This record gives sequence, C-alpha cells and structure tokens, in this order.
Amino acid sequence: MSSSAHTTAELPPPTIEEVSDGIFAYIQLDGSWFLNNAGCIVGKRSATVIDSTGTEARARAFHSAVRNVTGLPVSMLVNTHSHGDHTHGNFMFAPQTAIIGHERCRREMLAAGNAAMALFPMVDFGDCPVEPPTVTFSDRLTIYVDDLEVQLIFVGPAHTTNDVVAWIPERRLLFAGDIVFNGGTPFALGGSIGGWLDALDVIEALAPERIVPGHGLVCGPEVLRTVRAYLDFVFDTARRGMADGVEPLALARDLDLREFASLLDPERLVPNLHRAYAELRGEPRGKPLNGARMFQEMLEYNGGQPLRCLA
Ligand SMILES: [Zn+2]
Repeated sequence: MSSSAHTTAELPPPTIEEVSDGIFAYIQLDGSWFLNNAGCIVGKRSATVIDSTGTEARARAFHSAVRNVTGLPVSMLVNTHSHGDHTHGNFMFAPQTAIIGHERCRREMLAAGNAAMALFPMVDFGDCPVEPPTVTFSDRLTIYVDDLEVQLIFVGPAHTTNDVVAWIPERRLLFAGDIVFNGGTPFALGGSIGGWLDALDVIEALAPERIVPGHGLVCGPEVLRTVRAYLDFVFDTARRGMADGVEPLALARDLDLREFASLLDPERLVPNLHRAYAELRGEPRGKPLNGARMFQEMLEYNGGQPLRCLA
C-alpha cells in the first residue's frame, strides 16, 4: 500500500468546518485507524457534541476546536458507538456534560476499558479516563439542541453492537458514525455484515443530502453505495470461501480487492470475512469474535507489519 510510507508529520492538521448553519464537522485526515471525525451542533443557549477523539492530545485539540466555535455550555455529548477513537476523549467534557449513547455502548465501554490502546503500541494515547454514556437508550431518542431536533437512531449491530446515527431532519444532515467510512475499509469485527446492510437501508430511507462519516471527508449519499458494494463483496467472497473450505486469512491473501484496493486499512478484510463466516453459519449478529486473534491475522495479512496507525 503506497500510503504506508506516510508519517504523522505529513498528515494535515484536523479541521473544523461548518456543514450547515451552526453545525460543524471535525475532520481528522486521513481517516485511517483511530483518525475519526466528530462534530458540534451549536444552538442558541447550548451546544451538543457528537463523539470525541482517540488520544489525550487529540481530545484536548478537539475540545479547543469546539471552544473556538462556541463559548456556550456543552450540555450533551452523543457517542455514535463505543470504539475508543470516538470515546476516549469523552473525559474532556465529563462530568458537566450528559454523555448519551446506546445502552450497549455504555456496557461495552465499561467492559473494555482502554483495552484498544494495547492493539496500537506505537501510539501515545496519554491519559484518557473512561467516561461512558450517562444517559442510555435502546432504540430511538430525540434530543433538542435548543430548538433544533436531532434524532438518535440505533442501527446496530452493524459496525459494532451499539451503532447510533444522529439525523437532523430539518437540515437533511446525518452524522453517520462508523456506518459510513469515506475512503476507508468498513470494519465489521464487532458487529454484523447483514446488520450493516440493514443499517444502510435505514439511512437511505432517511434520504440525507450530506453525511458526516465516522472517518474521511464529509460526503453525500453516493458514498453509501461504496460501503454497500464492499459489504456485498465480503459476503459473496465468504460464501465462495466457505463452499471451498478455505479459512478467511488464506481466502483474503489470495483475493483481488478490485475497486476496493484503494480503500485505507485493507487488512480489515480478514475480520470482515470471519464475521461473514459466522453469520453464514447462523451465529447471531454482533456475537463477539476472538479480537486478539483477529488483530494477529490482520498483522499476518500485512506481512507481519504492525497496523498503520497515525493517531
Ligand atoms: Zn468504530
């Protein structure tokens, strides 16, 4: 992969851009492992933040960026899912901010703690005390940023067991969390391929005009087609591999990624195939896979090289 030569120093700094009146997307390129997006919705008397970031330094930078666009109190923080790149920085807003997430988001954060940090030993995560959601819900929750309606819709299991999208109907704007990777490989280790396809149906029915993806540049609904095509490709490949009795890692190694070869972090194919195999065997969506083995196999897929993480 040509991008493996990049270093953190070559990455552009994070940007905060106004994607709709008073609504900001915080974009951390290139959107690869742990370089996630977040957001901020500024109302008349208060602001609400969508997700945080993955290291102490990035959490402080995001907090400063929010403070640069509004001096209003941040009354709510919505976590789109439990992964550390979206939640490690919650501590910068706790305890005065209500942290909102799916009930399984809170459960998984408490169970995992900061375990994800050990998977990326090259990253200086700093000190990020775990701050899980203090307000949880199971299906839908509507919040109001003063008079602006924001619908929080559970669409998991998909990328994880606890995926939530934030839909702002008045602006036809969606914060998609990691249901949408723009330019990155979808990652279904903790979720479900079938569930993710269902989640895309839900999002398409909303008919968003603009999407803030969990990783990569702000985009339109056309990116949903790429995510769907990739997941279909994984499912089709897994069906073939299972029929031939080939293990996911061997199947991945011999696979031509075709139009998906340009997506960042292609090694996610290996856990994605394991997830597809589990579903094709009839196992429940979101049932935990052996995470340590999955990360080991991604390393093997990369020829023994550590995962490229520039956080
Ligand atoms: Zn994620």
